[in-house]
Amino acid sequence: MGIIKVKDLIFEYIRRDEEGNVEGITTAIDDINLDIEQGDFVSVLGHNGSGKSTLAKHLNAILYPTEGTVWVDGKDTQNNEYIWDIRQTAGMVFQNPDNQIIGQVVEEDVGFGPENMGVLTKEIWERVDESLKAVGMYEFRKYSPNKLSGGQKQRVSIAGVIAMHPKCIILDEPTAMLDPKGRREVIRAVRALNDVEHITVILITHYMDEVIYSDKVYVMDKGKIALHGTPREIFSKVERLKELRLDVPQVTLLAHELKEAGIPMPDGILTKEEFAAAFDECVNRAI
Ligand code: ADP
Ligand code: MG
Repeated sequence: MGIIKVKDLIFEYIRRDEEGNVEGITTAIDDINLDIEQGDFVSVLGHNGSGKSTLAKHLNAILYPTEGTVWVDGKDTQNNEYIWDIRQTAGMVFQNPDNQIIGQVVEEDVGFGPENMGVLTKEIWERVDESLKAVGMYEFRKYSPNKLSGGQKQRVSIAGVIAMHPKCIILDEPTAMLDPKGRREVIRAVRALNDVEHITVILITHYMDEVIYSDKVYVMDKGKIALHGTPREIFSKVERLKELRLDVPQVTLLAHELKEAGIPMPDGILTKEEFAAAFDECVNRAI
């Protein structure tokens, strides 16, 4: 079993009136299966309302299945005994960094998690330093979080989670509120956590260009997994992605349109560099 396993998961939000009668049911997760290996970098894509946050909250025992089972590091999230273990194993980072930072000073904020876990003071400081270094924020350790940009704050939130030494980190649209520079900084930090620290990463996003570094991509639609595969497999399905209301990156779209127009460009172009190389090859073949 992988670090995270989701079997036949169904989740319904139930709305009730004042008397407790059921007014309506939204099936936010509609039969999902996942098996994520330790060390994987997995992305979950999907337009608004497709069920991404509801899924994320199941991986951290914030929500529990209506039907089916979720295991984190082999532990069933419905077993109350494991709740703190599970929350420590699978740390969560949310969209808005302002709601996640509570300390007056960066290093103090990052230390809260391990302090609450009862880690010894000397080790707390070691963890704070190493976590801030891992996200490239060590030089800001004495700053007030108010003085930081959105991308910097979000990296401090990530440091706060990794100071608890999770095996897995789940980021629910961590870049949604950031400018392009902040987005790049956060994605770079997330990649380093996976490459260097070997932390399992589950990145939830609706920006397609953020998923190109992942090992696997799952695309959600109406509470189901509509597509899954490597980034290249996913990016090859331009028409399907448009149906799923995702914004296909410009280079991928351009390559696809050239191909439709009869220029033999390969499918699943992910980056500008790949586009340039493939286009050069087409030109060379033509002359
Ligand atoms: P995403 O994160 O992909 O935008 P969500 O998981 O937030 O999707 O939402 C999935 C579906 O569940 C949507 O139809 C949404 O309206 C509904 N939903 C989300 N949260 C609640 C809630 N607290 N109560 C009722 N319905 C909800
Ligand atoms: Mg969401």
